[in-house]
Amino acid sequence: METFKTIIEPFRIKSVEPVHLSTPEQRAGYLESAHYNPFLLKSEQVIIDFLTDSGTSAMSSRQWAAIMQADESYAGASSWERFESAIQDLTGMPHVLPTHQGRAAERILYGHLGGKGKYFISNTHFDTTRANIEYSGANAIDIPVQEALDMDSSYPFKGNMDVQQLEKHVAGLGAKNISGVILTVTNNTGGGQPASMKNAREVSAVCRKHGILFILDACRIAENAYFIHEKEAGYTGSSFKSIAQEMCSLADACVMSAKKDALVNMGGFLALRSNELAAACTQLLIITEGYTTYGGLSGRDMEAVAVGLEEVFDPSYLKYRITSTTYLGEHIRKLGVPVVFPIGGHAVYVNARMLYPHIPVHEYPGQALVCELYRKGGIRSVEVGSVMFGKYDADKKLIPAAMDLVRLAIPRRVYTQSHIDYVVEVFEKIIAGKNNTSGYKITWEPEFLRHFTAHFEPVH
Ligand SMILES: *Cc1c(COP(=O)(O)O)cnc(C)c1O
Repeated sequence: METFKTIIEPFRIKSVEPVHLSTPEQRAGYLESAHYNPFLLKSEQVIIDFLTDSGTSAMSSRQWAAIMQADESYAGASSWERFESAIQDLTGMPHVLPTHQGRAAERILYGHLGGKGKYFISNTHFDTTRANIEYSGANAIDIPVQEALDMDSSYPFKGNMDVQQLEKHVAGLGAKNISGVILTVTNNTGGGQPASMKNAREVSAVCRKHGILFILDACRIAENAYFIHEKEAGYTGSSFKSIAQEMCSLADACVMSAKKDALVNMGGFLALRSNELAAACTQLLIITEGYTTYGGLSGRDMEAVAVGLEEVFDPSYLKYRITSTTYLGEHIRKLGVPVVFPIGGHAVYVNARMLYPHIPVHEYPGQALVCELYRKGGIRSVEVGSVMFGKYDADKKLIPAAMDLVRLAIPRRVYTQSHIDYVVEVFEKIIAGKNNTSGYKITWEPEFLRHFTAHFEPVH
């Protein structure tokens, strides 16, 4: 095949949504009214929205066409059949439970398996995963590999689970107290880094040996398959879909938020092998989500997921997807912006504590960058650091998070190359003004999940 250095978006635009442009003066006013917390901005005040890749995908004309053909029957709808067979095809698991999003599948599975004295072990639990486990009374233990902690190591599979640690925990806690081992692919909380097939195979073998349930959190399994294809020996000849299928074949259960790699705005599912587990979870599904052939979804949603799960494995889509994320990361890295490396699948993470060494951690360097990105370029991003994870000691002194990162999550099929080039240019201004950037203090905060609603003020 002929190769070009420009990788084009493998789609053309049929329907457009205006982006509202604004001046720096307008944005300064918007930011002040939002108490310097971008979660409190209106979306129309934002030029480029990198808050999340969840539920923000652009759907294809095929997905919209499928939506028009959806069957909204209460039971046994043809849309359900299409949804069920798309998921059975991917996971190889016979039981499919449709849920309104990922966390609903998590609540059902972990609510059933969890409880006091139980443990779950993961490469890294996503925040809703941890919350559902802890809400049940169980404990969630994270065991990412050591390489994941080194921001500059170019180790290709920083999303791996530490298998030695897993063995140790199994020996220490006793297999019967471990309700499940969860491999999250890609590892969202760990920077969108992939896990290798070798790692999944080893984790699966440990689980099998001890009779522990192996659960795949498959939110970004197509993006993970792309990395395996590119970086793991023995997979260049395999299709992306067959790589994802092979990974599912190693697991006993699969939880997925369709808002990620199923390319839809809402949806999720739980897939299971065991008849007994499926029967118990189906009870909970009917009580809290809906009847078995729609759960938390309408026929339209199920149609869109069925088509999305096909489209996401298209080689030109995945190549565009991962290369455009890498493009942003590598270009701002060249400008001297400290980023988590290698660049993950769905987001670029900037190390704000390193970017702003003059801003002390209790003045939230991550929040400073989030505000600068908005002020200078209308870019909305999210602080993943001491605002999100910081705690207070008995004297109300801040216990900072391990790192102060800012996440730029890239919606799927939404932005073009010139949008990304614009973001790179905004970072040039960020670098030029970095010594004049000051920190922030919190003026109001709620008791839980403060990053969503807290109010801030600049420290001058
Ligand atoms: C988004 C996400 C979830 C939760 O899914 P929702 O659809 O937001 O409820 C679970 N795990 C991972 C890895 C995720 O990224």
